[in-house]
Amino acid sequence: MKTYMDYSRASEHILAESAFEPRFSGKCEAVMSQGNGYLGLRACAEEEYVQTTRGLFINGTFDRFDAEEVSELPNAADSTELQIELDGQRFSLERGKTISYSRELNLRTGLLERRIVWESPAGQRYALEFVRFVSLARMHDFALRVRIRYEAGDADRVSVSIAGGINGAITNSGTQHFSDGAKRYYDGKYLQLVQTTSESRIAFVHTAAQALCCEGEEAARKISMPRRAIRESQQIMLGCGQTLEFVKYCSVFTTRDLEGKSEEELKETGLAEVQLMEQKGFDALFEESAAAWEDQVWKASPIEIGSDNPRDQLAIDFAQYHLRVMVPRHDNRMNIGAKGLSGEGYKGHCFWDTEIFILPYYSFTDPEAAKKLEEYRYLTLPGAHAKAKANGYSGAMFPWESAWIEDGDVTPEYVGANVVTGLPTKVWSGHIEQHITADVAYGVWQYYLATGDQEFMDRCGYEIILDAARFWSSRLEWSDADEMYHINDVIGADEYKEHCNDNSLTNYLAKWNMEKALEYCAQLEKDNPELYASLAGKLELADWRKKWEQQIPKIFLNQPREDGVVGQDRDYLSYPEIDLTKYKNQTQVDTILQDYNQTQLSKIQVTKQADLLILLFMLEDLFPREVKKACWEYYEPKTTHDSSLSYCTHCVLASDMDDPALAVKLFAKSNGIDMGESMVSSDAGIHAASLGGIWQCVVMGFGGLRLGENGLRIDPKLPPEWKSLSYQIWYRGEKLAVEVRRAQDGSQETEVRNLTGKKAVNVTVQGQLRNLT
Ligand code: BGC
Repeated sequence: MKTYMDYSRASEHILAESAFEPRFSGKCEAVMSQGNGYLGLRACAEEEYVQTTRGLFINGTFDRFDAEEVSELPNAADSTELQIELDGQRFSLERGKTISYSRELNLRTGLLERRIVWESPAGQRYALEFVRFVSLARMHDFALRVRIRYEAGDADRVSVSIAGGINGAITNSGTQHFSDGAKRYYDGKYLQLVQTTSESRIAFVHTAAQALCCEGEEAARKISMPRRAIRESQQIMLGCGQTLEFVKYCSVFTTRDLEGKSEEELKETGLAEVQLMEQKGFDALFEESAAAWEDQVWKASPIEIGSDNPRDQLAIDFAQYHLRVMVPRHDNRMNIGAKGLSGEGYKGHCFWDTEIFILPYYSFTDPEAAKKLEEYRYLTLPGAHAKAKANGYSGAMFPWESAWIEDGDVTPEYVGANVVTGLPTKVWSGHIEQHITADVAYGVWQYYLATGDQEFMDRCGYEIILDAARFWSSRLEWSDADEMYHINDVIGADEYKEHCNDNSLTNYLAKWNMEKALEYCAQLEKDNPELYASLAGKLELADWRKKWEQQIPKIFLNQPREDGVVGQDRDYLSYPEIDLTKYKNQTQVDTILQDYNQTQLSKIQVTKQADLLILLFMLEDLFPREVKKACWEYYEPKTTHDSSLSYCTHCVLASDMDDPALAVKLFAKSNGIDMGESMVSSDAGIHAASLGGIWQCVVMGFGGLRLGENGLRIDPKLPPEWKSLSYQIWYRGEKLAVEVRRAQDGSQETEVRNLTGKKAVNVTVQGQLRNLT
């Protein structure tokens, strides 16, 4: 497939698109989407195309359309669409002639720009420039600016009209989450529209101010209020050689914002905010936002890759950009959706993607953001208790898919149709993809190891781990046949295996979770008896501890065969193998689902994504190198990488396996998921986990960073193509700078410096324990 992506300005941190093809508009709408953790805005063109999917998402504002549907993040009113008429001709790249086109996202500043030279069907030539940003400094704000120059044509002056406003007729693929609300037009120039989610009753207050002018002269305005929208059209005369400017300032506030203001108060706040934006002006607002990007991301966690391929650096910039756009650092009642805030995919729900793929980035670069994500899990405990109870278990059984803190499990029951039977396909993950509970506990543990945040552990962390262990204990099934505990009928990470027994990832993690619980009980009893007593009362720990002690040694774990291979589950290794060449060479994911249904896939040795292999990464100290190598060689060829969570894990493991050439190839694959050439990879939104995964490839794979019980280890594996790599991390309150260089003789030198030096920390660098002051 032809690509329109352009990487020629990668060294300037710019991701570009070189031509516009409306059929593929979804790609850049998602990969160039903008945001600040509070709101996310798809990068749709201002002018409308049938294929455009406009999207404005405000984190945490979940709504349920009706009893048949699950909670989802509603797609809110749009303020970016503009109808532009130039001398009576509607501006559209599907009409007239496009002389030149470029769309660019500057990953360092967050600025989106489109530059177009267009000849209208009447033969007049215009140069158009569109710029837009979502403020990182003022989380409720975004702004756009259009400049149009009349370059050449038969008329001396042409009439230009630009119409735009706030359009509430936006849906989530047809699902309208809002009831129509009040509209206001203040002072003959400020537009306001209120819309309220139908079930969760969250009011959104959208306010906008737009002004068109040409060389000091202001345009005439006309207001209209069609159903679900408020619109203003402005008209002005533009002389040949002149440039006009249209600027629009927008703010969004909701009654779910932490401040908890009423709708009436928000109307005033929204208006005042837009007035303030007007006063500050577009350039100053943008400068303020770009400075926030510099301070919060690029100066705070710089990563530099010394590679001749500028796309390597672009990939890590792209990942860091989106990781900042998606994270709700302002509010612990929300998490990160599998598509961030860039599209409707997965309904805005969060998954294990957060703990296993994304959280490490924040734990090491922005511990405050990481803490919010972890507190969210604590706040969802009531839903986890309800899920356990409904299934006949104890403790906390975390939802596979999670939305608002009170929603419990929001995994849909059905999706699509089975290609063989024609019947709706049941989604089993919400019922039996249970490893999520251990993943949440694992996330807490990793966060604690990275940050040493005792306050969080005392308030939330221990409780999550202990409560999760209670669930596992109640979940184990005793078998008289082998006198062992089993975990039957689950889905592991490989969602192509439904109803499997003793999935290794699940069983090893369940055991780890229970062991960790026992260890923390003993530690707390000694070090913090007061806290222990309160947790013991709340969670009935005396009985559970006895149970855990008795159960742990008897949990069934698949052991390595003679050749070192560990079964992904109890039966996987006995299934037939098929020729996977066709699927391994696919250019789009999931092609295997055209040929096999889930029932068939469950009985073939084919794996969707790292499953056994991710276990080898997560609990790496449990497995000797020969076992890892054998499993690596066995499972990768059987993996179709149909999940965006797959390549990154494989890339990190390839580094561990000392195969840097392969690691580089897998790194490119991982980077390609969103940023790559395919023009249809990201329509429903970017892949949040894979972006966290890109950071893991660089810092944990090539950069060799690992966190275990024995502290931090840094054992870089610089690929031959790279001359150097540097990154910075927070570790237990100290900022460490890591620099890896290739020396003249080809060997690798690693330097780690403690930049803050408040206290000394122990780090094992290339096998040597160092005390860094
Ligand atoms: C993957 C899951 C993942 C989910 C959301 C699925 O395709 O198999 O592991 O959690 O997508 O990203």
